[in-house]
Amino acid sequence: MKKRVYLGLGTNLGNKKGNLENAIKNIQEIEGIELTGISSLYATAPWGKTDQEEFLNQVIEIETDIPPLDLLKKLQEIEIKMGRERKEKWGPRNIDIDILLYGEEVMDFEELKVPHPYMRERLFVLVPLIEIRPELVFPDDGAKIGEVLAKALTIEKMEDIRKI
Ligand code: ATP
Ligand code: CA
Ligand code: CA
Repeated sequence: MKKRVYLGLGTNLGNKKGNLENAIKNIQEIEGIELTGISSLYATAPWGKTDQEEFLNQVIEIETDIPPLDLLKKLQEIEIKMGRERKEKWGPRNIDIDILLYGEEVMDFEELKVPHPYMRERLFVLVPLIEIRPELVFPDDGAKIGEVLAKALTIEKMEDIRKI
């Protein structure tokens, strides 16, 4: 059965807009994936490791019956094909594709945790996500995305994120 899946994309190296377009094109070309939603682009302050170039972030919604770990593998193949190098944690990258939510699944494996463990704290995820799915409810604790965003905004500030 097809599941609704949310992916978070990020880039802060090279042609950032081109990297996002290229990643989405590659994702759409995967057999068994239908692109059903796409957010605006957001320029965002770096998170976790702040002394680096600003990021461009976007969230997309897809429908797929590809199982979670297979999907992760296919997304990692796109990262590799696009020349992603993993040097330092949260460091600069030309493309990062995270699985934010996979249907109603709650998974806690080392290689795949959904909902994504940091998504509730990240404006660069929550703001584009609420844009495309304002009524979203988290599958693990039933929280509404609006409430989660309000809580995140007590720590991070809207000035860290700019809709393009
Ligand atoms: P973060 O996960 O905090 O956003 P990151 O995206 O920079 O950091 P990566 O180096 O891209 O981290 O990924 C590290 C590992 O995270 C991957 O090898 C992958 O197996 C694992 N992982 C766990 N949960 C997820 C998820 N929901 N989406 C993508 N990768 C995940
Ligand atoms: Ca990430
Ligand atoms: Ca990642």
